[in-house]
Amino acid sequence: MRLSYNRSVMERTLAIIKPDAVKSGVTGKILARIEANGFQIRAMRMIHMSKAEAEGFYYVHKARPFFGALTDFMSSGPCVVMCLESDGAIRKWRHQMGATDPAKAEAGTLRKDFGASIDNNATHGSDAPETASFELGYFFRGMEL
Ligand code: GDP
Repeated sequence: MRLSYNRSVMERTLAIIKPDAVKSGVTGKILARIEANGFQIRAMRMIHMSKAEAEGFYYVHKARPFFGALTDFMSSGPCVVMCLESDGAIRKWRHQMGATDPAKAEAGTLRKDFGASIDNNATHGSDAPETASFELGYFFRGMEL
């Protein structure tokens, strides 16, 4: 006899409320929308990254022309880092954030509503399972998850 069971595939992703959104006082609004969208917040912390820590986080973009501005911005003030969990969390969170450039983001997305520009776009989310694994490990120890 085979055992059958429902296998619901819970996934985790790394989300950041970036320094522009924290500074403009919309952290609570973004958290409320995350919870209303069905995510469980498995871990959360407010941090202020150093320039070197921001460079380590975004090392994949090291050769890009915007790397300096991006890491200056990410180390310019506190941000909120989170582990979000749900079915298909990676795609679901990226959908809720919207396009990288807020001007191109769909209505109702976080970047449309809270982002000012491609540099100041309010939120971050991992883009693939391997990235999520690296990014969650960058900010959280296993015990915290
Ligand atoms: P994301 O996954 O949507 O955040 O986008 P990426 O991983 O490609 O880029 C990381 C961050 O770098 C983005 O959120 C933007 O803030 C910034 N960025 C990406 N592309 C550009 C660009 O062409 N110009 C500028 N100024 N910033 C960019």
